Amino acid sequence: MKLLEGKNVIITGASRGIGKGIAQVFAEHGANVAFTYSSSEAPALELEKELEGLGVKAKAYKSNAASFGESEDLVAKVLEDFGGIDVLINNAGITKDNLLMRMGEDDFDAVIEINLKSVFNMTKAVQRTLLKQRKGSIINMSSVVGVKGNAGQTNYAASKAGMIGFTKSVALELGSRNIRCNAIAPGFIETEMTDKLDEKTVQGWRDAIPLKRGGSPEDVANACLFLASDMSAYVTGQVLNVDGGMLT
Ligand code: NAP
Repeated sequence: MKLLEGKNVIITGASRGIGKGIAQVFAEHGANVAFTYSSSEAPALELEKELEGLGVKAKAYKSNAASFGESEDLVAKVLEDFGGIDVLINNAGITKDNLLMRMGEDDFDAVIEINLKSVFNMTKAVQRTLLKQRKGSIINMSSVVGVKGNAGQTNYAASKAGMIGFTKSVALELGSRNIRCNAIAPGFIETEMTDKLDEKTVQGWRDAIPLKRGGSPEDVANACLFLASDMSAYVTGQVLNVDGGMLT
């Protein structure tokens, strides 16, 4: 059964990693996929072709999620190209890890702007469309780190915890219009973001996972599929941990 047949979806940051996994799973389920990237043009165009090969409409857009203006322009273009928006996935994110003692102001600001302010930018930009149709699902890619904190990631943890507060508030504001908003808190998912970590840190994460493995982008994408589709029609304001049991 295709769970998203004919639905129009925007995913931020889908040129690689988790976003790419979501785009692939959603297209397999019949969704038309508009997605963004920051600098990886060639992989984004390759993904566009791959998704079109699955028989859906797909388009890659270069857009900086941290920019309010670019987010507004992006949504306007997607509405023109796709004719509507049913699902927004705020996935774009970065890390700039350091102990607080050594963290510069620029690294704090960049992580907050790209990970958290972007969620405000994109949610504002799609809000009117979702309100008019009295239906929509917004999914915010938080992290277990936003729930439990992590040494060396004060900026990242603050951005991901902020996303949870934002998610719950949007769920309360827009629930009466049948617009749902949920967050996903992935644990250790093997992508380029985690490739940057040293082997000792990676082993530490793996040891702490009851399922004894890192997750895949597809593991996260399947949780997104549930939250985007009518399978979760009565679920809003929640944080779904996709972490192999890490926070148990
Ligand atoms: P990734 O492999 O580093 O991919 C990040 C994606 O975000 C890329 O497509 C990148 O585009 C895009 N991006 C970065 N800055 C952007 C900007 N300013 N505007 C638009 N797009 C931007 O990361 P990932 O591991 O897939 O993570 C995806 C999300 O899941 C992030 O929010 C991350 O915090 C969250 N998460 C990841 C893990 C994990 O273990 N991997 C765990 C918990 C949460 P370019 O390719 O063009 O740079």
